Parts: sequence; structure tokens; C-alpha cells
Amino acid sequence: MSAPKLHVVATPIGNLADLSPRAQQILAEVDLIAAEDTRHTGRLLQHFNIKANLISVHDHNERQRAEMIIDRLSQGQQVALVSDAGTPLISDPGFILVRAVREAGYDVSPVPGCCAFVAALSASGMPSDRFSFEGFLPAKTGARQQTLSALSADTQTLIFYESTHRIVDSLKDMALTLGEDRFVLIARELTKTFETIKGAPLAELIEWIEADSNQQRGEFVVIVQGAPAREVTGISAESERVLALLAAELPPKRAAALAAEITGANKKALYQLLLDKKA
Ligand code: SAM
Repeated sequence: MSAPKLHVVATPIGNLADLSPRAQQILAEVDLIAAEDTRHTGRLLQHFNIKANLISVHDHNERQRAEMIIDRLSQGQQVALVSDAGTPLISDPGFILVRAVREAGYDVSPVPGCCAFVAALSASGMPSDRFSFEGFLPAKTGARQQTLSALSADTQTLIFYESTHRIVDSLKDMALTLGEDRFVLIARELTKTFETIKGAPLAELIEWIEADSNQQRGEFVVIVQGAPAREVTGISAESERVLALLAAELPPKRAAALAAEITGANKKALYQLLLDKKA
């Protein structure tokens, strides 16, 4: 290694054999590793017999750490950034640090590897030409339903991260806002012993997961098939989005009237759309 650099290193999402030889080499050679949780990363490094200087970088200290890391780079050092699992910055800290380092004029280089949603999508059989990665849904029911309602007309594949505590509630909110027939796939514990990938219409999927508490344990990627493309309604995706947001809070007629006023779309067509969705 020559010029000082921040290496953004992906780590395994379960199976330790997924840490690439290049990642191992870089983690062994850098002067400093900035890790989301130093104890967690310490265990990974121990497994690979790598000795390193570790500092923590998390949501609450990222700005200060960025200054410290830029200082190290200015001394000609090599620094790596890792998170607890998968690719840093993907629903993980690091964005503030990476931006600060780039703005300070130093190189940032990725060492690619695992990413849970990419792994899930690659094995899902869901349309992958266009997709939207939405990260974690809000923890509170109201906000979650609102977020889902706003996405209900999106024709792209939608991808979410979900935790063991909320998987059932989130699937139920999806059934409420997207319809019980929407096809959804859950990818649980990828690359680990109890890896399970199961896709079904929401009503069936909820029945399946509620019947077996083991299936509610672990880490999840949830992949939602996009809404069917609408033809000849003359209603734009933006109008549908506004309509969905209002319909989550108001009776259908009022929601349609307000959405028509806001977006200029036809009130009757908007109302019909809400009726069609309920059918
Ligand atoms: N940076 C990571 C990545 O590249 O995927 C994601 C970090 S995010 C804080 C953690 C979430 O990723 C988990 O709650 C879960 O939704 C998902 N995840 C991580 N590992 C997973 C696995 N082995 N199987 C399924 N989902 C996983």
C-alpha cells in the first residue's frame, strides 16, 4: 500500500468464509481499523489471526472520529472502515466519515463483499432490473403504515431490512397497506445454519410465519413484488403516492377529493382507484 487511503471493507453477514482474501490482507496491513463495534470486529479478526489497532465509529461519534481519521491519513497512514456485518454505509454508519475523508482530499476505496439485501435479491427470483432499497421501516405502527402506503403504488421491487422483533407486525402492516395478495419473499439468516427463503402472497406468508415461532427468529430481508403497472387510469405515480398517503389518514372520498386538488388528477378516477384497491 502506498498513498494514504480509507478502505471501506465488507465483512461476512454470517458465514465467516465469506471474508475475501483481499479483505483479510487489507485488514491485516492497515494501521487502524475503524469498527462499528470493536468487540464484535475483534472476534472476527481473532478468527483470522489478524492483529490490529481498533477504534469505534458509530452514529454518536462519527464526526469526531472523522477528524481523527483524517489526521491519521495526513500522517500517511492506511485506515479501514468496517461495520458489524456486510457492507459499511448500507443501513450502517460510515456515510459522514466517507464524505469527510473525500472532502479532505484523500482516496476512499471499496473492498466489496457481502451485502444482505443484494444476497437476498440474487436468490429471490423477484424482478431485479429496477428495485428500491428502503432499509428499515419505522418502528412505530402509524409511521410504518404511512411509509408503506406511500410505496403501495410503486412498480419497482421493494426491499426492506427487518428484525426479529418486528417481522410479524411489519408483514401484517404490509397486508393492510399493500393488500393480502401482494407477493412477498423473506430471506432469513442468510449464509447461516438456519437460512430460510420463503416467498408467498402476504396472507399465506403471515399464516406460515405465525405457525412457527422459529421462523420469526434472526435477521431478515423482506422483498416485496412491485405493484402491477396501471394502464389507462391517466393517474401519475405521484398522484397515486399522494392519494395513498391521504387514504391512510382519511375516508376514501375525502382522500380522493384532496388528492385531486393537490395533484390536478381526476377526482372520480382517484376514488375508483381506491375502490379497486379495496376489492
Ligand atoms: N450493512 C449490512 C449489509 O450490508 O447488509 C446491513 C446492516 S443492518 C444494521 C442489519 C440488517 O441487515 C439486519 O437487521 C437484517 O435485516 C439484515 N441482515 C444482516 N445479515 C443478514 C442475514 N444473514 N440474513 C438476512 N438478513 C440479514
